[in-house]
Amino acid sequence: MTWLCKACATQYPDSPDPPGACPICDDPRQYIPHDTGQVFLPWEEYVAGHKPDVRDDHGILGIGARPDFAIGQRALLVKSAAGNVLWDCIPYLDDELVSRVVAEGGLAAIAISHPHYYSAMVEWSRAFSCPIYLHEAERAWVMRPDPAIRFWDGETHSLGGGLTLVRCGGHYEGGQVPHWAERRSLLSGDIVMVIPDRRFVSFMYSYPNLIPLPPTKVERIASALAPFAFDTIYGAWWDRVVSADGADIVRRSVERYVRAVSEPGLGS
Ligand SMILES: [Zn+2]
Ligand SMILES: [Zn+2]
Repeated sequence: MTWLCKACATQYPDSPDPPGACPICDDPRQYIPHDTGQVFLPWEEYVAGHKPDVRDDHGILGIGARPDFAIGQRALLVKSAAGNVLWDCIPYLDDELVSRVVAEGGLAAIAISHPHYYSAMVEWSRAFSCPIYLHEAERAWVMRPDPAIRFWDGETHSLGGGLTLVRCGGHYEGGQVPHWAERRSLLSGDIVMVIPDRRFVSFMYSYPNLIPLPPTKVERIASALAPFAFDTIYGAWWDRVVSADGADIVRRSVERYVRAVSEPGLGS
């Protein structure tokens, strides 16, 4: 059987016993729950206790599962001119969800921002016989290796149909986000974090443990995104969406961030 980490929803390879540890959670960017410790459960048990949640999220079909589990991200079905791409991934997949996605045209590819959302990517890839695009810098964080995973190196990688993976780094060195030219949209995962104040976004090395990034890394995100025009920013969870002025908001937010972590700091 395969195993799921209860804190980050990473799926581990087929084995009779659960893994000894989850390196993704045993890292400053995540955490091992203080009350339960490290817990793994059989993937089938997780699936049996959950239901798919498929609905529109600001003009893109969102794919999640209920009730909430681990980090709780939802994926997005990007219908580009070059075929359907599943952006980011979830731990859930069952026959009903496969049929639903087949009815939408199936999948030509999967692309995932960073290791926190790798989850059940291999199940998804096998169900739709499609490749998974990850950045080379995250190779060491793949806990369930598979021949369908295609690592790309460098700063941008075109998936066709006006969809370009942009390597931003920051939260993870190989943190990537797709720019969708046709929709003037950026799908940002938590590489660019959509926050409660929708006039800004933010950036962190660890969100749960509140570890900031150095200004140079945040400025690097701004320069990676500078060539791209976009209005909408889709974050990693339901309704975490900036609906207008996305590119300006990223630019302003990087300036605010750098001011906030520099002396004399924000507000002075
Ligand atoms: Zn984990
Ligand atoms: Zn993350």
